[in-house]
Amino acid sequence: MEITSTIIGAGVVGLAVAAELSRTRKGVLILERHDSFGQETSSRNSEVIHAGIYYAKDSKKARLCVEGNRLLYRLCEQSRIPHRRCGKLIVATQKDEEAILATIQEHARENGAEALEMLSARQIKAMEPNIKACAALFSPSTGIIHSHRLMRHYASRAQKNGAQFVPNTTVSRVEKQGDGRYRVHVVYPDGQTDAFSSRWIVNCAGLESDRIAASMGIDIDRCGYRLHYWKGEYFSLDVPRGFIGHLVYPVPQANHVGLGVHATIDLSDRVKLGPNATYQPDRNIDYSVNPQDRQSFYEAARRYLPGIALDQLQPEMAGIRPKLQKPGDPARDFIIAEETSKGFPGVINLIGIESPGLTASPAIARHVATLMAERG
Ligand SMILES: Cc1cc2nc3c(=O)[nH]c(=O)nc-3n(C[C@H](O)[C@H](O)[C@H](O)COP(=O)(O)OP(=O)(O)OC[C@H]3O[C@@H](n4cnc5c(N)ncnc54)[C@H](O)[C@@H]3O)c2cc1C
Repeated sequence: MEITSTIIGAGVVGLAVAAELSRTRKGVLILERHDSFGQETSSRNSEVIHAGIYYAKDSKKARLCVEGNRLLYRLCEQSRIPHRRCGKLIVATQKDEEAILATIQEHARENGAEALEMLSARQIKAMEPNIKACAALFSPSTGIIHSHRLMRHYASRAQKNGAQFVPNTTVSRVEKQGDGRYRVHVVYPDGQTDAFSSRWIVNCAGLESDRIAASMGIDIDRCGYRLHYWKGEYFSLDVPRGFIGHLVYPVPQANHVGLGVHATIDLSDRVKLGPNATYQPDRNIDYSVNPQDRQSFYEAARRYLPGIALDQLQPEMAGIRPKLQKPGDPARDFIIAEETSKGFPGVINLIGIESPGLTASPAIARHVATLMAERG
């Protein structure tokens, strides 16, 4: 097979891109350093189909999330991917948070998210007897999805279309050739190396995407491409099935790097609390959960779930957000860029694809296909 398009990384985004590109292009290759797809951030998240509520107006995050939300529900229904449109409550636990809810409602409307409904304390009690809140916003289009089944769907669609998935293959660098193509250097687990050339490079390497861009010769500090890792831990909450039926989020605090410790349900109705957000200055990939964080999770969650007890919380799992900001920096948007202006025509870098990357994955894939079609 002549390789025309090389996708680096088989997380949910790389796989969505592969499924989309292989509909119309031959020679699509997906390289993955692990022995299977979805072994990193794409299987370490809340599995929430976001509505597009909070992201900055006109940002890629907002636009691709709102579009991705609609595409994802359609895909789930057509392809029988397990999901549930369970809805989400953003709860105000004190009076002064009610004004913030009104601002969020208006912001979501501007982003084009499905309309949010303001609920009174009585309406909340009727919907969720275990929640204590004086007001809440209800988002009907927020839901949950089986992320692994989604990835399996993208992978099998890509392979049926003729794309080739190559696991156990780490891209060490990408080098510009003189003929408008790129030389992709790879390393196998036994230390052997190889290289091949490709016209298009789509960098979907998640936590390593900035390093891949740097290996091409892009100055990632000057371009604002350097990633910063923020760990997010989860604790499971040992409660009876049906304890909550919706996703429950606190009102986000100013300068938030996450959405606050929220309560999510999965498709088997297990309840998880989290994630928190801890900056990892040394870029360590450490997925352990510190049991000592139990108290702070408990304090955060019992503001809206007053009936829970500390010993119902158990360390569950962690994921790492590939963010473009350090502590104190303003929030950043996704980078999805065709790099002709930097001297790398045919390279598409996707960097800082944190939340809502899972939700946005089908819309991101379409966006990448459009960038490639525009370039010709
Ligand atoms: C705690 C947490 C909660 C989240 N919750 C949600 C949520 O509820 N809803 C939502 O929409 N989003 C959520 N997200 C965001 C979402 O998980 C990510 O945006 C999404 O998974 C990113 O997918 P990706 O394919 O870009 O990255 P990844 O899943 O990280 O995939 C990148 C792939 O590239 C591979 N790779 C890296 N370097 C190389 C190399 N050199 N050579 C070959 N392969 C390489 C990796 O092994 C990996 O498989 C959350 C994220 C976190 C951390």
